[in-house]
Amino acid sequence: MGVMSRIASVLLPMPLPEAFDYAEPEGLELAIGDQVAAPLGPRLLRGVVVGLREGAGGNRPLKPVDRRLDEPPLPANTLEFVQWAARYSVDAPGLPLAIALRGARAPKPRPVRVASLTAAQPARVTPARARVMEAATGQALTPAELARAAGVSAGVVKGLIDEGVLEIREVVADARWPEPDLTQPGPTLNASQAAAAAQLNQLIDQRGFQVGLLDGVTGSGKTEVYLEAAAHALAADSTAQVLILLPEIALTQAVIGRVAARFGAAPGEWHSDVAPPARRRVWEAVAAGSCRIVVGARSALFLPFANLKLVVVDEEHDGSFKQEEGFIYHARDLAVARGKIEQAAVVLASATPSLETLRNAETGRYRWLRLSARHGTAQLPTIDLVNLRETPPPSNTWLSPPLVAAMRETLERGEQTLLFLNRRGYAPLVLCRACGERLCAPDTESWLVEHRYSGRLVCHLTGFSMPKPDRCPHCGAKDSLVSIGPGVERVEEEARSIFPEARIAVFSSDTVFDAREARRLVEAMAQGEIDILVATQAAAKGHNFPKLTLVGVVDADLGLRGGDLRAAERTFQLLAQATGRAGRRDRPGRALLQTYAPEHPVMQALKAQDRDAFVAAEMEERQLAGLPPFGRLAAVIASGPDAAQLEDFTREMARVAPNAEGVDVFGPADAPLGLVRGRRRRRFLVRADRGVDLSAYMAAWRARVRPPSAIRLSIDIDPYSFL
Ligand SMILES: [Zn+2]
Repeated sequence: MGVMSRIASVLLPMPLPEAFDYAEPEGLELAIGDQVAAPLGPRLLRGVVVGLREGAGGNRPLKPVDRRLDEPPLPANTLEFVQWAARYSVDAPGLPLAIALRGARAPKPRPVRVASLTAAQPARVTPARARVMEAATGQALTPAELARAAGVSAGVVKGLIDEGVLEIREVVADARWPEPDLTQPGPTLNASQAAAAAQLNQLIDQRGFQVGLLDGVTGSGKTEVYLEAAAHALAADSTAQVLILLPEIALTQAVIGRVAARFGAAPGEWHSDVAPPARRRVWEAVAAGSCRIVVGARSALFLPFANLKLVVVDEEHDGSFKQEEGFIYHARDLAVARGKIEQAAVVLASATPSLETLRNAETGRYRWLRLSARHGTAQLPTIDLVNLRETPPPSNTWLSPPLVAAMRETLERGEQTLLFLNRRGYAPLVLCRACGERLCAPDTESWLVEHRYSGRLVCHLTGFSMPKPDRCPHCGAKDSLVSIGPGVERVEEEARSIFPEARIAVFSSDTVFDAREARRLVEAMAQGEIDILVATQAAAKGHNFPKLTLVGVVDADLGLRGGDLRAAERTFQLLAQATGRAGRRDRPGRALLQTYAPEHPVMQALKAQDRDAFVAAEMEERQLAGLPPFGRLAAVIASGPDAAQLEDFTREMARVAPNAEGVDVFGPADAPLGLVRGRRRRRFLVRADRGVDLSAYMAAWRARVRPPSAIRLSIDIDPYSFL
């Protein structure tokens, strides 16, 4: 009788439907969570052990695991979360695993060669040599740093190395993270903040899964409150870890600065701008538990926390928490799920919470903490609607006379204006006057956007770009292309021509490339070095600009034309955030909204600054239609190069959709964006009652179809994009 062997299920970070079985080699003694190298075809791949059981491999002998990697194992909770996320999103578990391993697969920080003193004495001690030896008694320095510190030439240091007085060692940057200093007092909180902080501390003290909604107008000081809760969580448990999720990198920098100031140590930073070796260091320190505070973008949710006790989702309503490509997920919803798995407290913070979150607060599933007073003495701005039908801007311009007059007054008082337009580039559409052709990216039904800074036409959907041609590519007419409509670059041009003496800057993802540039621009604005800032949504939140007293919204109707479920909600949120920027501290602020629809309920609610009225009206409409938060949605997008094949497949898919009570399947229909990169697209929309397990329904449906290899099928639970 042979020795009883074990089978290891190994999940690979690839789009495969399930984990693969391997034999456990004798003596290896694997454990769940171990990172291993396992053969797949001719290659060895990194994978994670997700199951171990006794037994042999059936008829065929199983291939053995090659070896255990010298890497930290994934904690059980992280593995459970990865598998939960895959089930929820109806996708391959290897995809969220790949996100969880992103830091482990990054290169390790390179060792540094430092020089340190040996016991040997130099044959001859010159003053220069004495200075080098003194400098070398402190921290470990490289030979070049040592020479600089001692003020000597490289030759002096080399001489000491050759004599054996100094020796060269290789050291790796310390993997441990500086401990947060919990003895530092926090800022003084006002009564409303203190009450909210006390309630959050109570949630944390219950030491289980709890969700709180921190709901307060812009400028009410939510950050101070959740940092107080973070301090409480860290102090209550000496190994506790805190994760702060933010929707954008531009915002991350401001919050990292505040965390560092509050705790006397920089937090772990996690987003796409972090260099791979630094990412590796954060990943390892989070797994080891030494990095106790992480500030990051949505993928930070997949880090291997050793003991996660508090998750904060700041700006929880923000659409950028939704990941739309690759593994599709909503980071706010997954944060709540991770909190449940970790038995941690979750804090959702916003000035304009999503309807989903408000509904959970109304029904008591989430603790609702409202911050009423504005921090300090600032007052809410006054909001006025500019009716563009009555006071339109001169033709081919975008700033109306009332807005220009308000900008002039603001400039004369030495105060700042923020012009807000949620549209990148110079013009959203380029049209040929001769033949009427609208320029699109090749094989795509999305308009090309003109960018004057780069002199190119860009497709924001596919990334395609080309230099602006002097002839129409369609009819060949010369100089016939005209730019239609405004983007931020065009509004900037207009502001410069009206106020040539003003200092004007643009803040959009085309002009601000990285976190450092974003920080520089935000600082210049805070220092009063900019008079007029023209911005897309990137600047609409999170920053304190003490001299900003006027916000002009160039096209308040823009979001309302989206035609999707959340169009009104998103417009309200965006405009409330943008207008909330005006007049903090002790200066009264003013916001002007240019609109063709001043009677629209969203505009009326904004003018009255009556969020509750807006929410009540919107909730009623959603309830009547059974839409979120009263029902649930999922989308299916099928795409393929051949229109007829795609139509056949989607018809067949409709035929085999499972019948289930409380589920309606709409479609298939051609997607509004019917052609992208040469692929036709068709969509289904599925609506379900709240009690339905929509993920299970979609998985059952998915299992009934076998798409031809040319057709890609993607499922989007709780879709935010309806294109
Ligand atoms: Zn033409």
